[in-house]
Amino acid sequence: LYQSPPMGPQDQPNYYNAVVQLVTDLAALDLLDQLQAFEQEAGRVRLRHWGERTLDLDLLIYGDEQIQHERLIVPHVGVLERDFVLLPLLDIDPELQLNGHILKDLDIVKHSALTVFDRTNWANI
Ligand code: AMP
Repeated sequence: LYQSPPMGPQDQPNYYNAVVQLVTDLAALDLLDQLQAFEQEAGRVRLRHWGERTLDLDLLIYGDEQIQHERLIVPHVGVLERDFVLLPLLDIDPELQLNGHILKDLDIVKHSALTVFDRTNWANI
């Protein structure tokens, strides 16, 4: 579990960031529906664009599929630009490559100042 400063408005608390890998029978769009249902269940309220929210669940990668749909772009467009996505993703697969990039070699990964909040191995909980 990582902690990162907010993007967008700075007068909001830090964010917690985590990435999970899962096996599912759901098609990608059905998985997105489920993620959005979880967000609603968590009482997500969006007060302002890029502002504070309870829970934000994104579908980063779906196998090796490339998806361009009006509701779903996979790999997620922000992956390569966000250390708070890349570092937890690399904890799961240190050799991961995406769109021709070796993620561990990206400058943003090498120079990240992201802080670990909790080293618990969440997979075993
Ligand atoms: P946000 O809540 O800011 O993450 O944005 C959610 C919106 O992005 C929804 O309308 C989704 O349909 C759309 N979206 C597009 N691609 C993805 C993705 N890979 N994961 C999650 N949401 C996505």
